Amino acid sequence: MANKTAHVMVVTPHPDDAEFGAAGTVAAWVRRGKEVVYVVCTNGNKGTTDPNMTPERLARMREKEQLEAAKVLGVREVVFLRHPDQGLEDTSEFRKQIVRLIRIYRPRIVITADPYRKYFWHRDHRITGQVTLDAVFPYARDRLSYPELLLDGLEPHRVDEILLWASEDVNYCFDVTDTFDLKMKALYCHVSQVGDWPRGDLENWLRERCRTAADGKEYELAESFHREEVLY
Ligand SMILES: [Zn+2]
Repeated sequence: MANKTAHVMVVTPHPDDAEFGAAGTVAAWVRRGKEVVYVVCTNGNKGTTDPNMTPERLARMREKEQLEAAKVLGVREVVFLRHPDQGLEDTSEFRKQIVRLIRIYRPRIVITADPYRKYFWHRDHRITGQVTLDAVFPYARDRLSYPELLLDGLEPHRVDEILLWASEDVNYCFDVTDTFDLKMKALYCHVSQVGDWPRGDLENWLRERCRTAADGKEYELAESFHREEVLY
């Protein structure tokens, strides 16, 4: 198998979530020469209020938007799993897809949505976060998990750390002062999602959020995460 390893794997429920949650961090890592791969779990085909939009057209648009956003950020590769929007379940099959990708790309860091937000939290976000955590530990690590992957030449892989965006239990901030503009540029690629927001409003809201996240730090803007090292 060709060497596809990436330093960072971002597992996003829908196209656009990774840009909201982690694009500034991703862009900073790319600038430092790190390889980043995106895994987009659903096709986002329910994310519209437009009565004239069809699910098929929306899915096609959102894939294109995600590719454009990834290009802006310098993400090397985008893998689309194309599950239906609002259709994710915590199944062995979905978990195996993520384990397979972790074993192919062998990332040091995995970034995804925090599954433990209380109350209203998009079900796809909760399930993506939970399945990705489980895939990182213990399934990607353990030789006898999904033994058919071994037969495909996919050796176990130990991820070093996981970062969860949209966390209510923040313990880690990343300086995005120099990449905030790229984050916005990538976000604006998702026209089907943010096209109706007055540009200034979206940018001001996010800038304020990043400024609050950096409160007390020596830099101006941050993205915030819950970070866990995988110690086992
Ligand atoms: Zn989402």
